[in-house]
Amino acid sequence: MIIDRRRFLQLSSSSAAISLVPSALGKMTQEQPIIDVHLHAYPDDLPIPAAVNPATGKAVQLKDGAAHRAACLAEMKRLNIVKAVVSGGDGDRLAAAYSWSKAEPDKVIAGAGVRGSADTPLPDLDVLRSAFKDGRLRVLGEVTTQYAGITLDDPKYASYLALAEELDIPVALHTGTMPPGMSFDPCCRSARARLGDPLLVEEALNRYPKLRLNLMHAGWPYLDDTISTLFHYPQVNADLGAIDWLLPRAEFHHYLQALMRAGFGKRLMFGTDQMYWPEGIAMAVEAVQSAPFLSADEKRDIFYNNAAKFYRLS
Ligand SMILES: [Zn+2]
Repeated sequence: MIIDRRRFLQLSSSSAAISLVPSALGKMTQEQPIIDVHLHAYPDDLPIPAAVNPATGKAVQLKDGAAHRAACLAEMKRLNIVKAVVSGGDGDRLAAAYSWSKAEPDKVIAGAGVRGSADTPLPDLDVLRSAFKDGRLRVLGEVTTQYAGITLDDPKYASYLALAEELDIPVALHTGTMPPGMSFDPCCRSARARLGDPLLVEEALNRYPKLRLNLMHAGWPYLDDTISTLFHYPQVNADLGAIDWLLPRAEFHHYLQALMRAGFGKRLMFGTDQMYWPEGIAMAVEAVQSAPFLSADEKRDIFYNNAAKFYRLS
């Protein structure tokens, strides 16, 4: 379950300090429209436990999925986030993403969050096909293969990837790492750190050569293998979700700068993956905005242009 990821709090960083006050951030974002390609929706009636924001140390209590949606949409409005790719949880929780797109049809691109583990099986293929065809869903993701202890190359994903390729639906794949200790959680006993390596998507990319793939979390900490994958496969992009506000700032900037230096400034996309903490959206914006090595044009690409191109948004 995606809700397990509140354990990201252990990954956290005390050094993700906010150096811009919210009003300054608001002024910056008024001039810069933003696309957030990495948000999550939860069912309206799903209780959300109080969870400590790992980057601020403050406990945040949102009553349920509906309150979470309202808080996130308000924050998006404040920060000029004009489009968002919102993953609707796992399995039968697809409806959660629809509740966001119903509330903000012009802003929200609903995605099918799927896993493929014993306790979170893949959704019915025909349900997905009809939702992709009528536009209720426009992305296959977040696909959390690592949590299921397998890779995108596992045969169980074959018909889903074939469907995405057939209908030209972009796929957003969880890559990189997980909250510490995830393999000891009853949900994810097969999860393994090594399965986050982006190079493990290579066979799937060759089998479905027209697939558009977003490496979520930009494959951190697999820098070399992320570069290798982006370099060899031009149909692959990467988003900065979670690493932009949960990692120590120096590490995030070091990783982002390495990807920029390697020449991928047109393929990196802003994302938050703020999970249960709507205030994480502003923290993620600030983390990119404050990168001293990015030009204004490069920031515009990361915040907006690259995602608009990859997801074919107007
Ligand atoms: Zn993820």
